[in-house]
Amino acid sequence: MSELIDGKVISTQIKSEVKEKVAALNAKGVTVSLAVIQVGADPASSVYVRNKKKACEEVGIRSVAYELPETTTEKELLDLIDELNGRKDINGILVQLPLPKGMDEDKVTDAISPLKDVDGFHPVNVGKLSIGKRGFVSCTPAGVIELLKRSGVEISGKECVVIGRSNIVGKPMSMLLLRENGTVTVCHSRTADLKEVTKRADILVVAVGKPGMIDASYIKDGAVVIDVGIHRKEDGKLCGDVDFESASEVASKITPVPGGVGPMTIAMLMKNCAESVELQGLI
Ligand code: NAD
Repeated sequence: MSELIDGKVISTQIKSEVKEKVAALNAKGVTVSLAVIQVGADPASSVYVRNKKKACEEVGIRSVAYELPETTTEKELLDLIDELNGRKDINGILVQLPLPKGMDEDKVTDAISPLKDVDGFHPVNVGKLSIGKRGFVSCTPAGVIELLKRSGVEISGKECVVIGRSNIVGKPMSMLLLRENGTVTVCHSRTADLKEVTKRADILVVAVGKPGMIDASYIKDGAVVIDVGIHRKEDGKLCGDVDFESASEVASKITPVPGGVGPMTIAMLMKNCAESVELQGLI
């Protein structure tokens, strides 16, 4: 049986570190503020936005909510972002995705100042990550690195395999593992023999977006398995991309769903917000 990597415990630790950092900034007269923009009332997005606001409250970050109607035009949204980019009292800007049909998400992401892009999606921040410069890093993959490090998993020199090459998870994940000196392979829907590759992994990060797809037959004995996937089953329960029951028979350490990677994303968002004031040269 494998050891659980507990994302609830680790994310709580990170949030309490952020809280201390924010309190120290406040003591120096520096406040940290996050603008959270939601367009429309998609129920899943509303839950994410609510959780982000709650996390801000927990760590002492001021959140400013912009709940815009579904009828908002792209131009109105871009104008708001432009205004927030210029405001000294706003350190981070987050636009909850997905946006309503007809809006160009790339255009909106690109409009956010890279210095306020706490989601780490702006091409400037993606570029900085790939050349090893300091910038904002996408929260979910950054959270995976924290889970590994804080669970005592050595990344340097290890065979790391990432399943998935999306811009928000797979690609930044592979760059971060490389930055930690892992030997990194990225698999995707055109990978010819997936099992042959994943069976080599000492660390396997699964972000394939398919419920329960990765079972023990994909995993080397003793590997560390990180499940980024999150799906709601018909019975209402959550599950990941990994078949937890079978995978936990062979993995040395594994993240559960829920309670693994999930809680890390918001904790890393809070960490990015607290760091924004440094990147903006405010301290
Ligand atoms: P995505 O659909 O954008 O990307 C999936 C990737 O998997 C693609 O690159 C594709 O090439 C690859 N893929 C698909 N089928 C494959 C196959 N049969 N073999 C090998 N590769 C295959 O998904 P995403 O946005 O990267 O998200 C991945 C998962 O992580 C989803 O379940 C999503 O819900 C979850 N997610 C969780 C969090 C979190 O906070 N925990 C955040 C983002 C995404």
